[in-house]
Amino acid sequence: MAGAFEADLIAPCGMNCGVCKAYLAYSRGAPYVKGKVTHCTGCLVRNKNCAFIRRDCERMRRGSVRFCHECADMPCKQLAKLDEHYRARYGMSMIENLKMMRERGIDEFLASQAKRYRCPGCGDVISVHDGKCYACGYQADKPRGAIPKRRWVPNQKRGDTP
Ligand code: SF4
Ligand code: SF4
Ligand SMILES: [Zn+2]
Repeated sequence: MAGAFEADLIAPCGMNCGVCKAYLAYSRGAPYVKGKVTHCTGCLVRNKNCAFIRRDCERMRRGSVRFCHECADMPCKQLAKLDEHYRARYGMSMIENLKMMRERGIDEFLASQAKRYRCPGCGDVISVHDGKCYACGYQADKPRGAIPKRRWVPNQKRGDTP
């Protein structure tokens, strides 16, 4: 269903691969363009964890945790670093995602993601990375000065919600 996410799209680090631009380009049929548009089928499917956490985490390599929120050390240094990067550039926090999943359950988390990244143009999904909808071409605004690291910003009037 357009705009909905499956639990299998949620990576152990709390990233929703369903809002990743590489996954959206792949799943919505946007052609691969060297250096610009990459394709990915999702973290669990690839069994890789693109976010580099897996390389340094024994628990993830062994598969002893499905999500970092099951880990007594959350947030470890690697996860905290990734979280900081994502908060600054994309206005998203893996740690907040994980906490929400732990406290309110994955179904509620998936529903909130569907609402948060709903494309105001066609009802599909905008990417957390560039504010673009790979189904209809909608593009959220680029930031103007005030938050230099952000790649895109929500436009409340048009209905962007993140
Ligand atoms: S590139 Fe990373 S975040 Fe994007 S879909 Fe692949 S594993 Fe998920
Ligand atoms: S929070 Fe725990 S499971 Fe997640 S990457 Fe860090 S050490 Fe590994
Ligand atoms: Zn759209």
